[in-house]
Amino acid sequence: MALSKFKNEPLTDFSKPAQRKAMEKALVKVRSEFSKEYPIVIGGEEIRTNEKFNSFNPSKPSQSVGVFQKANVDLANKAVEVAAAKFEEWKWTEPKKRAEYLFKAAKLMRNRKHEFSAVMVYEVGKTWPEADADTAEAIDFLEFYGREMLRLSGPQPVTKIPTEKSELHYVPLGVGVVVPPWNFALAILAGMTSAAVVAGNTVVLKPSSDSPLTGWKYFSLMREVGVPAGVINFITGSGGAVGDTMVAHPKTRFVSFTGSKEVGIHIYELAAKVQPGQKWLKRVVAEMGGKDSIVIDDQTDLDAAAQATVASAFGFQGQKCSAASRAIVVDKVYDKFINLVKEKVGAIKVGPSDDPSNYMGPVVNRGSRDKINAYVEKGLNEGGRLVAGGGKVEGEGFFVQPTVIADVEPGATISQEEIFGPVLAVIRVKDFDHALEIANNTEYGLTGGVWTKDRKKIEKAKKVFHVGNFYVNRKITGALVGVHPFGGFNMSGTDSKAGGKDYLLLFMQAKAISEKIK
Ligand code: NAP
Ligand code: MG
Repeated sequence: MALSKFKNEPLTDFSKPAQRKAMEKALVKVRSEFSKEYPIVIGGEEIRTNEKFNSFNPSKPSQSVGVFQKANVDLANKAVEVAAAKFEEWKWTEPKKRAEYLFKAAKLMRNRKHEFSAVMVYEVGKTWPEADADTAEAIDFLEFYGREMLRLSGPQPVTKIPTEKSELHYVPLGVGVVVPPWNFALAILAGMTSAAVVAGNTVVLKPSSDSPLTGWKYFSLMREVGVPAGVINFITGSGGAVGDTMVAHPKTRFVSFTGSKEVGIHIYELAAKVQPGQKWLKRVVAEMGGKDSIVIDDQTDLDAAAQATVASAFGFQGQKCSAASRAIVVDKVYDKFINLVKEKVGAIKVGPSDDPSNYMGPVVNRGSRDKINAYVEKGLNEGGRLVAGGGKVEGEGFFVQPTVIADVEPGATISQEEIFGPVLAVIRVKDFDHALEIANNTEYGLTGGVWTKDRKKIEKAKKVFHVGNFYVNRKITGALVGVHPFGGFNMSGTDSKAGGKDYLLLFMQAKAISEKIK
């Protein structure tokens, strides 16, 4: 059967009773499995360790969603060794066959969509629509990278000369250590892992300790569709405890990381050190943090701009690398904009994420909540003015109010450091040019956007606003696979583009072959 063209997975309309019912059923099913324990799996062998840890429901932290094994250094070493042995076989598997595993997985994930989403509702505090979008993106990655592998496995263009027959093929790299974050617990984990594997590599997948169950669901799906044992090795436990072992292992060929700047830098440095017996320079693909801005011009639909800012700042509690954490607003409309934002934020309901009437759920864990609250305090101490939020939210969960702090100085801490929570800093600027200057004043360069009707300003911003994903007159979150290849500049990472046409090349190397014919 001919393969259809790639198309983004549609989002679920939860206003439809049938869809609501289906999601409720999935939530019940996931809840009924809360007490289960999950193994580490290396080369198909299920391993249980003495030390365990729980993954908690941040809406109700007394509730464990699953029990996981704490890997140690020996298991980390073993996982890389097993992956290295398996690579010798997997690398010869036909690309078409590898892609078929992804298409099969996409199909099953689509059929059980709500179950995957329900896991994220409980494990990381995603609301229904946020979880649904995460699952849709995971399906997109499977479909997109499968097709990309088919394209890249075909003959690649080289210049012809009469005396030789020349070809160029992409071949895999080797063992990859895949380290995703918890915030797109399924999509990013599935995207990073599937890309590496479809390109012919074997991997050790270590999900975030905040979202091992979501990682497990992906791993079991790949097992179910028949990906051979040892191609994906599933290891849980603290990144600090086993991460260095795997990154430094001489048989590790590349590291695919998405997470914070601090951990990304650490991995980059460690991977650069050539270990005894190591035969290559390791490749590191690191996608890191952001400090993303929306610029608001006076020549704009201010109400729509405020709406887009609120959606970008507070969707999934501001815990997106793409989230708007700064609104840079020209003086002329500054007060009016703040009033509009305040009004919209006032309508936001915060509470447990399994209740679909809540627009915001909890933040991911206690440490994260405390860190966000400390940033709010710091923002106010450094001269910011509290416009909305800032207070405590009742309830057992790690809830934080959507918070808006105005009159923030461009150099203030909350204007420079990634908070990764529902906190929006508003900065006053004289005019649009001044706004662009401030927009580029952090060490990051992930997403950003402008709201203006002036074509000249738009064209200027397209050139000078230095971010990997730039948006005009829309929200700055919600990148779609294939449509908005995603990844940032500067300290936001190594300039990769997930969901783009050059992403798979990061996990391959090109072999040029020439045969003399005359
Ligand atoms: P994180 O704390 O850096 O953790 C990311 C992953 O690294 C986790 O799996 C973590 O495991 C692991 N890790 C920790 N220390 C390690 C070490 N020494 N060696 C190897 N792995 C180690 O980030 P996060 O809190 O999960 O995610 C939020 C961050 O991700 C934000 O900064 C956000 O901007 C960024 N992000 C960026 C993008 C992008 O595309 N640029 C997308 C999404 C998120 P443990 O959980 O076990 O510690
Ligand atoms: Mg959790």
